[in-house]
Amino acid sequence: MGIMEKMRLDGKASFVTGGARGIGRQIAVALAEAGSDVALVDIDIAEAKKTAREIAEQTGVKTIAIQTDVTKPEEVNSMMETIVQTFGKLDAAFCNAGICMNIPCEEMTLEQWRKVIDINLTGVFLTAQAAAKQMLQQGYGSIVNTASMSGHIVNVPQPQCSYNASKAGVIQLTKSMAVEFARRGVRVNSISPGYMGTELTLNSPSLKPLIEQWNAMAPMGRMGRPEELQSIAVYLAGDTSSFTTGADFVIDGAFTCF
Ligand code: NDP
Repeated sequence: MGIMEKMRLDGKASFVTGGARGIGRQIAVALAEAGSDVALVDIDIAEAKKTAREIAEQTGVKTIAIQTDVTKPEEVNSMMETIVQTFGKLDAAFCNAGICMNIPCEEMTLEQWRKVIDINLTGVFLTAQAAAKQMLQQGYGSIVNTASMSGHIVNVPQPQCSYNASKAGVIQLTKSMAVEFARRGVRVNSISPGYMGTELTLNSPSLKPLIEQWNAMAPMGRMGRPEELQSIAVYLAGDTSSFTTGADFVIDGAFTCF
């Protein structure tokens, strides 16, 4: 079998949180195009259902939409039950849902701090943990967490200390899980994108005005497109990445290189 055939995901089952739109949607499309059945997990169920329908129509795989707030353990557990009932197993888990708040550190309330940490870090912990429980039982599986270049550098000029701290946490959580599961068939990696054109950036009143400035700082002179994360997602979900665990993939057009 050639490498391209080995990279296919036929017969596999995956979930993507924050899968309704943006980066999560493009990851889900890629998994489905490679042959995996996919659960679109999102707090926005109307959008998740629409995305699930479109992906099924375009690719022919089985898709389901599941409404889940990743910060609520009971909803995350029920999500996993639905996935196992529907697909019988879980091969790949993309813990991707996340938000950003741009508030100066000295003005941030505890409630605002907690909201970002709850979704971006605790939400990834809860969804990755639920996936891991199923995968450890099976003896195989791949977990991929969406971190960010903000887990490595401090973005400027926008103030986003909670976001940056949450993403650094995701990178270290990923490595910790990878080491714990390394001899039990479950791999855990993270993807750290640079600025990508999604609702989170393009439609955010605080971030949108900064795009020109970011592009001027970027070696490639532009933001990334969510589709530019698709091939790494397929690679990490599949069997050709069998020796890849505990790694963080910075996909940022060299933004963090200097
Ligand atoms: P989007 O805002 O476009 O999509 C995020 C999705 O997650 C939305 O559908 C959102 O629903 C959903 N969501 C939000 N909160 C929850 C929750 N508590 N439970 C379940 N789903 C939730 O974001 P992106 O696609 O841009 O970002 C995806 C990930 O990539 C995030 O973790 C982000 O931090 C990361 N990232 C993004 C970068 C970028 O430049 N865009 C760069 C680096 C990392 P709703 O709309 O209802 O809130």
